[in-house]
Amino acid sequence: MRALAILGSTGSIGVSTLEVVQAHPSRLSVQALAAGRNRDLLLVQCEAFRPRCVSVGTQEDAEWLRASLSYQPELHWGPEGLLACALHPEADTVVAAIVGSAGLASTEAALRAGRRVCVANKESLVVGGALMHEAALAGGGELLPVDSEHAALHQLLAGRAPATIREVRITASGGPFRDWSLARIQAATIEEALNHPTWKMGPKITIDSATLMNKGLEVIEASVLFGLRPDQVAVTVHPQSQVHAMVGFHDGSYQLQVCANDMKLPIQYCLLFPDQCPGPVASYSWEDARHWTFEAPDLERFPCLGLAFQALREGGTAPALLNAANEVAVAAFLQGRLGFWDIQACNQEVLARIPATPQGSLAQVLDADLTARRHAEGWVQART
Ligand code: MG
Repeated sequence: MRALAILGSTGSIGVSTLEVVQAHPSRLSVQALAAGRNRDLLLVQCEAFRPRCVSVGTQEDAEWLRASLSYQPELHWGPEGLLACALHPEADTVVAAIVGSAGLASTEAALRAGRRVCVANKESLVVGGALMHEAALAGGGELLPVDSEHAALHQLLAGRAPATIREVRITASGGPFRDWSLARIQAATIEEALNHPTWKMGPKITIDSATLMNKGLEVIEASVLFGLRPDQVAVTVHPQSQVHAMVGFHDGSYQLQVCANDMKLPIQYCLLFPDQCPGPVASYSWEDARHWTFEAPDLERFPCLGLAFQALREGGTAPALLNAANEVAVAAFLQGRLGFWDIQACNQEVLARIPATPQGSLAQVLDADLTARRHAEGWVQART
């Protein structure tokens, strides 16, 4: 029986995780739930799963929960609450699904405490990948990637000697602007950018999919997770999102991982690894494979992908700087303060202006994150 702490339970990964738990009542239980602002959904989840430990964004919401719940769990709030859930003694498996670099400390702490950590928070790997590996090594924790492409790579690479691998290739749907002209992309609206063709996700990652920044962050994530050089990670646009990743070997052959584009599958893979038993997602239908297409990404129309490769090659804190700039730029775009094309301009500006340093400690990484955020904020303000 795996006992779960779900950090970010009201987001799309958290909700899907709870569906996977419901499909495996004898194998999975919920011990802790942490959420940010969505206290209404958290209340419903608590009544359904009755976790012993619950955390929410603010003290006020924690008190509201205490008064509203039909039972009395341990109640926490804020960043300490997140840590209390991540380190809850009754939980052996942590699903890290907090959006952005806010999820970094709790992911690190859980790895250091020897938990299996299913990381949906790609920022913690992009920003502090070396630190996450270090924490897992020091504490005996186990890191499994929930991201569909990386769960696919994990599956493809399990038991493979690194020396046999020539390259890995992750697929990108191409997002809503895949076949748009440069001029049309440059003038894209919020509604257009939020209209993702194949995945239903939160707003931050949906915008990142429209700029291909999400794929760029995933390139960095793949390099960090599997110890691959920047030139060993490639991207192929595959609009049907059914082949999730491929591994190329030195003999010229490839292996592909294929499944329905439903996040419950990679989530279940991580929770139950190494078992791959029936769950809430139907087996892949080969009828759907008749229309597979593959194409190369266009870095001129999607410069954020090129910036991610640049940051990966620079190494050290460069991915953290890019990630922080992008978080600020996407938030400003969603608030109507920036245009769509300004997102890549902001990212480019921060990467060009702030020198990268070695990753160092968690504090140093968070410091680089803060510096980049301030610079990006200043850049946004100067334009609005
Ligand atoms: Mg992904």
